[in-house]
Amino acid sequence: MAFSFFGGVHPEENKWYACDKQTQIYPSPDIVVIPMSQHIGAPCKPLVKKGDLVTMGQKIGDNQGLCVPVHASVSGKVKAVEARAHTSGTTVLSVVIENDHQDTLCPDIRKRTQEQVDALTAQEMVDIIHEAGIVGMGGATFPTHVKLSGAIGKVDTVIINAGECEPYITADDRLCQEEPEKLIAGLKLIMKILGLKEGHIAIEDNKPQAVRMLKANLAASDGIHVDVLPAKYPQGAEKQLIYAVTGREVPSGGLPAAVGCAVFNAATCKAIYDAVYDGMPLIRRIVTVSGDVLMEPKNLLVPIGTSFNDLIDACGHSEYPYKVLSGGPMMGVAQYDLNVPTIKGVNAITVLGRRNAYAVEDSRCLRCGKCIEVCPMKLMPVLMYKSIQSNSVEEMKANNIMDCIECGCCAYTCPASVPLVLGFRVAKQLIRNEAAKEKAKA
Ligand code: SF4
Ligand code: SF4
Repeated sequence: MAFSFFGGVHPEENKWYACDKQTQIYPSPDIVVIPMSQHIGAPCKPLVKKGDLVTMGQKIGDNQGLCVPVHASVSGKVKAVEARAHTSGTTVLSVVIENDHQDTLCPDIRKRTQEQVDALTAQEMVDIIHEAGIVGMGGATFPTHVKLSGAIGKVDTVIINAGECEPYITADDRLCQEEPEKLIAGLKLIMKILGLKEGHIAIEDNKPQAVRMLKANLAASDGIHVDVLPAKYPQGAEKQLIYAVTGREVPSGGLPAAVGCAVFNAATCKAIYDAVYDGMPLIRRIVTVSGDVLMEPKNLLVPIGTSFNDLIDACGHSEYPYKVLSGGPMMGVAQYDLNVPTIKGVNAITVLGRRNAYAVEDSRCLRCGKCIEVCPMKLMPVLMYKSIQSNSVEEMKANNIMDCIECGCCAYTCPASVPLVLGFRVAKQLIRNEAAKEKAKA
């Protein structure tokens, strides 16, 4: 039985732009830019230098601690190791590779037979996933091996998140339609690591073909349930998804394991399959390139490091893009430099025209309370925003700003266009900075 989480909104889905478009393999570009930071945690240190020759899938960056390695997505020659523009809006140390278009595969990459996979222990699989550089590919980019290790022995439910509730994005929808057997095999690997006999794939009811394909590829003995949930944004948010599937509420500041759950994005699950069965590290991913000014929106299988510019050009545009987002229109991050590379957490590039521009001269709160009605975290956005204006970190904390999942429901519904989410992002960073200062003092 599906539970309905509190709040949420129903923005125009606009999935029709790309949901029927078969994933196309994007030809590898002449240059790829591989940032050393594509995950939550310590950035990698480059393992190569200018002039080195690299093979496709070769490890080119790694580090100790909370970190996953990065790999070359093409074969060729390292042109530079230097700071380059990044989707976060900053610059990040990156390895720039000139593609030789030979696709010479790294000799370490070897497929495993089913017998070899069956013989792997849970720890061996976690190590393979770590070495393959796998992170949460829905945008969270948390190292997957750490999530898995932390969940062993602590969870009774695993959920694959194929919700994909953001407007325009169809990458996971296509994955479920085109490679359901690999997604299911990936989930079985996760179930084996976590020692579970049952698993869930949660998906919204606006993806009927994907639901059909998943169900058609399942056997009763698999112990896998496809949970079809009514479409509502942000159904794909981790805490809301857990509630929708299990009825369990993750406590404030808590992790899914606190209620016995672990959630993995659909693309992450497929990447686990690729790593364990094919020995292939995370060097490419499906990206939906969509939006109202594109001539031909597409789902593209893209080498990591391909520039946004190249992908937008591959779709053509009828007018000059007014706004380009890494991600969807609700949670995506606006980009100012389209030379930024596609990284592991980029599931979509949304390209919008001038008709999406809105100028707000006076964004004073009307105290209508609509933002409170839609907040899926049951927060009080209007009071949170007031606490930001007071500039008091204590007041911000007291209003639970750290519980905000930045889903954008409040800003979407606000009739006064108060820049709520922007304010919450800045406030959360302020709180984190304060905490770091306190820790340094102690
Ligand atoms: S962005 Fe934060 S405050 Fe606004 S609706 Fe989402 S969780 Fe609530
Ligand atoms: S929705 Fe906007 S105008 Fe209404 S209370 Fe919230 S912040 Fe104020």
